[in-house]
Amino acid sequence: MKKQHRDIAKRILRNIPFFGAAVKAMHRAQRRPFKLPPGSICFETSSFCNLKCSYCPQSVEGAIKEKGMMNRETMGRILENIDAKHIRSVGFTGIGETFLNKEWAVILGMVRKKFPAAIISMNTNGILLDYAKFESILENKVDTVSVSLNAVNKERYIQINRADHFDDLVAGIKAIIQRYQSSPAKFTRLQIQLLDTVNSDEEISDFIRKFSITENRYVTFYANPYSNWGGLIFEKKTKEERYPCTHLYIPDVNYRGEVYACGVGHANSDSEFLIGDLTKEPHEKVYQSANFMRLHEANMKGRLEMENKLCADCNSWNRIGNIYFKNPFPFGSKWL
Ligand code: SF4
Repeated sequence: MKKQHRDIAKRILRNIPFFGAAVKAMHRAQRRPFKLPPGSICFETSSFCNLKCSYCPQSVEGAIKEKGMMNRETMGRILENIDAKHIRSVGFTGIGETFLNKEWAVILGMVRKKFPAAIISMNTNGILLDYAKFESILENKVDTVSVSLNAVNKERYIQINRADHFDDLVAGIKAIIQRYQSSPAKFTRLQIQLLDTVNSDEEISDFIRKFSITENRYVTFYANPYSNWGGLIFEKKTKEERYPCTHLYIPDVNYRGEVYACGVGHANSDSEFLIGDLTKEPHEKVYQSANFMRLHEANMKGRLEMENKLCADCNSWNRIGNIYFKNPFPFGSKWL
């Protein structure tokens, strides 16, 4: 089924009474919002990047206070402090480009060994991705690799990503897909990310058609809106009533092992969002810290944006649908 048909079907289904509630209940159960420590974790292997895209904190002068690469010793200490039974999904994200780290494959192997059943996803701008790297990704059974192509043509790419790599990147992605499609070893889903905020639905459909690669289980296109990174990139204040932000339970572990409660807190190096250090303390303890408990309570009381300036300026809270229910009783937290 084509993406736009899937989106229309989802919109119709969501509006059928009870179906929306059933989907919410299923998501809520899967995300286990009350289970702490959370089942998701993101690791930053590099806070350096080879691009300065317009939508990324890397493009904002002075936004990223310190930069570095994670090494295998640091990752070893971090992994010792995490009980594998808690982790269901791992992201290789952060605010830099993973493939700039020469030890990325070793670190990925360590993570896969520690969490054999976890869903692993990686994000890359794709500039350094080649088939040899893709084979390491396959060997480590990475579930999804998302390549931020972002734009549907060269001019838009230069405008968004502020560099002239579009033609090489498209040729590189196609070469990987062609080899991958004829390879017997299939596991990883290669996802080509386009930004729906700056490319229209028609432009995206037209690009996918001209790309002349048929979508299947292992190769997909993904249209993503972009975050304002807590006001770092563009201002976004809204009067809309908010529901709790699920990003608060998807921590970003920086290259030193410090844990930020969410990626936006990390990108802003906001000390209010710094909840622990996994090279020094167990994962469970990080989620008993005063900073985390304060943020969690504010989230459940519906006061996150009132108590944290970063949240007030941030548009990321609605990038994940609401999985909470409003408390019908006049006591307890606002959200359950
Ligand atoms: S609203 Fe933004 S800054 Fe606040 S917890 Fe969510 S993602 Fe983080």
